[in-house]
Amino acid sequence: MTLPRKELFDIPTGMIYLNGNSLGPVPIGVAAAVEKTISEQWANQLVKGWNTCGWYEQPVRVGNKVAKLIGASQGSVVMGDTLSIKVFQSLCAGLAMRPSRKVILSDTGNFPSDLYIAEGLIALKDQGYTLKLEDPETVIDAIDDTVAVVLLTDVDYRTGRKHDMRKLTQKAHSQGAVMIWDLAHSAGALDIKIEQSNCEFAVGCTYKYLNGGPGAPAFIYVRPDLTSTTQPFLSGWMGHKTPFDFEQRFVPAKNIERMRTGTPPVIQLSALEEALKIWDETTMQEVRAASIALGDLFIAEVETRCPQLALLSPRDGSTRGSQVSFAFEHAYAAMQALIANNVVGDFRAPNVMRFGFAPLYIDANDVIKAVDTLKHILDNALWDKPEYKERNRVT
Ligand SMILES: *Cc1c(COP(=O)(O)O)cnc(C)c1O
Repeated sequence: MTLPRKELFDIPTGMIYLNGNSLGPVPIGVAAAVEKTISEQWANQLVKGWNTCGWYEQPVRVGNKVAKLIGASQGSVVMGDTLSIKVFQSLCAGLAMRPSRKVILSDTGNFPSDLYIAEGLIALKDQGYTLKLEDPETVIDAIDDTVAVVLLTDVDYRTGRKHDMRKLTQKAHSQGAVMIWDLAHSAGALDIKIEQSNCEFAVGCTYKYLNGGPGAPAFIYVRPDLTSTTQPFLSGWMGHKTPFDFEQRFVPAKNIERMRTGTPPVIQLSALEEALKIWDETTMQEVRAASIALGDLFIAEVETRCPQLALLSPRDGSTRGSQVSFAFEHAYAAMQALIANNVVGDFRAPNVMRFGFAPLYIDANDVIKAVDTLKHILDNALWDKPEYKERNRVT
């Protein structure tokens, strides 16, 4: 398939959407799929739907589809909960594998929720655990034999800097640490080979580059040799070996289903399942190559035409995710002005203008037009209008 495939998405006419790294746009067909889940399945089948409509198997069925996109075996990925919760669950499981060690190692480029979750778990355990943070560039050197778990996000949400997953995982294993990768900004954008990386766990969300919609459930990957033994900790009834025996003691399922917790979000999963059909028609290699080209073009255009902005992202596309960020003193207001002019990126504190390039619906022409608009705003200081300086709750 040749990219882009704009006809597969419902994006407002005239809008250049450079924020698929935060919330992907709605694919055509999702509204009808959700409508079908409600009007045909829920309305007609009611509780029978768990059996007749495949709702019960959905977290594993959809997990298998996500598995293909991240280079994982069938039966090693399951959907459910939010990413923050899956970070918690994987951290619990990872720490239990190294009971004599007390350090969780992460980096300062990690998304705050991952770090906050680690802090909460440390407080809950109350056994002298610590969260150690290093710079992304030097975190590899901080992996030693005191580290129980290395928890890293592949692509930095602010700068787009990408880690070397294989090298870091190898270092973690050489020191006896467990490796957890967060693929939030990688799944659906990068050609991930999670199983080849050999990490024990990976987690990610599906509302970014996988276009599952706001609130779409997260996924968790468990390395195949561990799926029947890893401890789920969030041991809800749907992770039980036989949930409908209603036993009083928890016995985990013998497979990836042990990482399920409670009732899955069926309507949201039906949106995601439909959205994932897009990937039947394209390959991650194709998407990745196009995204690097778009990012390179954007950097070249901005640097020649908008010298007020300073590049924060790696210049080398192979070490960059699918986003490009620039620093600018008036970043928030400038982004508001851009959005008002139908070029939608986002702002990240303190001074970051962030632009995501999803080649399924963005092409070179859009990149040029976006920079035209950006240049117009900067050259005329349009960001200086009071209405662009008022902070929204969500940036
Ligand atoms: C987007 C993102 C999250 C968000 O977590 P939710 O629980 O889905 O809100 C967490 N971690 C990383 C690394 C992210 O990029």
